[in-house]
Amino acid sequence: MSVTVEETSTRLTIRDRVAEMGQRVLEGGQISRDEALELVNIESNADIMDLLAWANRIREHYKGNKIHLCSIVNAKAGACSENCSFCSQSAAFQTGSPRYGFVDPEPVKEAMSEAKDNSVTAVGLVAAWRGLKEGPMLDEVCDRIREMKENGKSRPDASLGLIESQEVADRLKEAGLSCYGHNLESSRRFFPEHCTTHTFEDRLKTIRFLKNAGISICSGGIIGMGEEREDRVDLAMEIREIDANVVPVNILNPIPGTPLENQEPLPPMEILKTIAVFRFILPQKEIMIAGGRTVNLRDMQSMVFTAGASALMVGNYLTTLNQPVEKDLQMLRDLGLDPDWDNDFADQLGGGSCGSKCGSEEKPVEAAVTA
Ligand code: SF4
Repeated sequence: MSVTVEETSTRLTIRDRVAEMGQRVLEGGQISRDEALELVNIESNADIMDLLAWANRIREHYKGNKIHLCSIVNAKAGACSENCSFCSQSAAFQTGSPRYGFVDPEPVKEAMSEAKDNSVTAVGLVAAWRGLKEGPMLDEVCDRIREMKENGKSRPDASLGLIESQEVADRLKEAGLSCYGHNLESSRRFFPEHCTTHTFEDRLKTIRFLKNAGISICSGGIIGMGEEREDRVDLAMEIREIDANVVPVNILNPIPGTPLENQEPLPPMEILKTIAVFRFILPQKEIMIAGGRTVNLRDMQSMVFTAGASALMVGNYLTTLNQPVEKDLQMLRDLGLDPDWDNDFADQLGGGSCGSKCGSEEKPVEAAVTA
């Protein structure tokens, strides 16, 4: 099919705009919300490929060839009181997801040992419940964190839901936690569409307690829940505002029994474009591809790094399986990328560390990671 002069001219204009923004970000500048909307609304594959190339340059400039790997250990599964519509672990939905109480020390030790063998930077202790309060469960959590810190080479992280007092955040810090995962999930506008048992503000409040305690933040969200492109941009802008260190991007994998079971999947190019726009907005952060990677991207998984991702959730997820870690490590080697062992986020201006919602290949993780 022939391309008209007008189409060619428009394409060059988009290409020039992408290059101008990309160069600015490389030089330490920022893009505005309106500019991010320009990028996320790019439609043609040729222009999206230009966008990816710039996102790749930005990733290389700020991250080199290092890739941060995270894994999770599911400390408590199912029967969650909250009603996040993407999550198989909510008690509100019939999903057949496993249910068990807080795990003993042994499985956590095993997860740390496996992580060490696979060059995994951080292991997140994840629990499916509303949140963590003062009491015997907090004591138990702190014990697990101390054991993880003593036993493993990987950094112990946690994703344990809402925190409603400074005391709880301080106790986690004292136990040795350096990074907590707590996703914002989506934009402030879209949040009530997928959860009504707690609010976007509850999540921001949790993050404030953690930051006051000196704990780094891992916070991202889930795309493909029926939100608009504008919501994805607004999520990234909120994350820029809270200065999260690790930014998990989960892609909805509709779980039967949840309200989103029939949600139309996002096309792979739309997913890659979103990752690239996140890299433009959050040039120095660890953008981590987490739940839903395999099922949504299939053979295009390796392109997440070209799109600007600098981190990957590996290993099995909370209630579903991911591709084997060996396959992910081979993919990194083939791309000339290295797992980044000792990532302390020193390359980020804001400082901090990771958290938990970090990856999950499939839906449940997204939930737990979100917890
Ligand atoms: S995402 Fe977390 S808080 Fe929401 S239902 Fe699932 S486990 Fe509960």
